[in-house]
Amino acid sequence: MLPDRISSYISDHLEVFTAELARFLSIPSVSTLSEHAADVRKAAQWVLEQLEKCGFNGRIYPTERHPVVLARSPEVPGAPVLLVYGHYDVQPPDPLEEWQTPPFSPDIRDGYIYARGATDDKGQLLTYINAVQAVLAVAGKLPLNLIVLAEGEEEIGSPSLSKFLADHRHELRADAVAISDTSQFAPGVPAITYGLRGLCYLQMDVRGPRFDLHSGSFGGIIHNPAQVLADVLHKLKNPDGTVAIPGFYDNVLIPEQWEREEMSAAPTDLEALKNYLGVSELVGEPGYSVTERSSARPTLDINGLWGGFSGEGAKTIIPAKAGAKVSMRLVPNQVSGEIDRLFTRFVSQLCPPGVSVEFTGLHHAEPVLVKRNTAAMLAAERAIEIGFGKKPRFKREGGSIPVVNMIREHLEQENILLLGWGSPDDGPHSPNERFSLGDFHRGIRSAAALLFEMGK
Ligand SMILES: [Zn+2]
Repeated sequence: MLPDRISSYISDHLEVFTAELARFLSIPSVSTLSEHAADVRKAAQWVLEQLEKCGFNGRIYPTERHPVVLARSPEVPGAPVLLVYGHYDVQPPDPLEEWQTPPFSPDIRDGYIYARGATDDKGQLLTYINAVQAVLAVAGKLPLNLIVLAEGEEEIGSPSLSKFLADHRHELRADAVAISDTSQFAPGVPAITYGLRGLCYLQMDVRGPRFDLHSGSFGGIIHNPAQVLADVLHKLKNPDGTVAIPGFYDNVLIPEQWEREEMSAAPTDLEALKNYLGVSELVGEPGYSVTERSSARPTLDINGLWGGFSGEGAKTIIPAKAGAKVSMRLVPNQVSGEIDRLFTRFVSQLCPPGVSVEFTGLHHAEPVLVKRNTAAMLAAERAIEIGFGKKPRFKREGGSIPVVNMIREHLEQENILLLGWGSPDDGPHSPNERFSLGDFHRGIRSAAALLFEMGK
């Protein structure tokens, strides 16, 4: 629910909220560039000030690079606790010449606010603060306990967050975590993201002779590491595109019927997609739609490979070594460590005597599937319906969101609500990033409704 007076207050104060967003967006808090370190601190300070004005008790915690803001609302004894995570750092704005207006001089045109960070993630983070302002202005107190956690290193991979979460896990205990850093299902169709794929990413280095050899003198008597690499990579997949590693699919959870129906409702203009990608065919596992293949089924991809001579002209050698980087996107209930073991065992068996293969793990992340019918999820569903005037769709993402796994691991929290107010065409990380003021408004309403729905 959202009391009428609060709903009216939000509508009446949109200009004020938009002006606040413009101020937030004008701080060039680019986390990857050291010359902007002071700006990142300034953005942290700005977030804390907004929360302190709402009576929150908080502070800025320094890390090795950019600080974390942690603030807590005045206690409402016995009421549930909601933790909101967001980030106040942004991507670099380059290439600057492609921006119609400067990236840190927010410009409003055609119902959008254009600036770096508009949708990712300043605009979305601010919706919660604006919601709190509206609730406090009308009702004088919040219906629940709210903790806001905002970091300044998301765009550089959150290097300090794991430790921060582990160190502060007692202060971060909550009934649910809300993250608004994803997008809607399609423009105007809100979404709750309930699934993320995991990742098992390895490098394999195949080694043969001690040094590159003359292929005329030695060709035909030893294994060529580049050939071995090609043979092995070829055997990782079946002709129909499925992964050939024994045991790879053993723990794969088949999407439930409601999920398949939800996914089949995704807009699938395959011709437009092919045009966009510049390919004449889409491929993939038989029996699954494009949406299912790209979010609910596991994959294996060669991300890079090397070996031997690739310069201009000819050089007749048998290379001493060759290698490849291979990543597998995982789905529930695959476990990255187990897949790593299956992969290395299979590849080791395929490598013939006379060459050696060495593996380096590059990145492991577990897949995520948030339960659909928990109290928190149902509260979020109702809140979005109130805020957007229509029910959200439930979707899975093909990638992973590192912070989600960090929260699961360090806070032992499974009630993670990925509520995207942005639109898929907002252009995060691109020139002319924008956030629709309509979505901003609906996001504030949804965030306010979530406080009440969770507070029940
Ligand atoms: Zn983001």
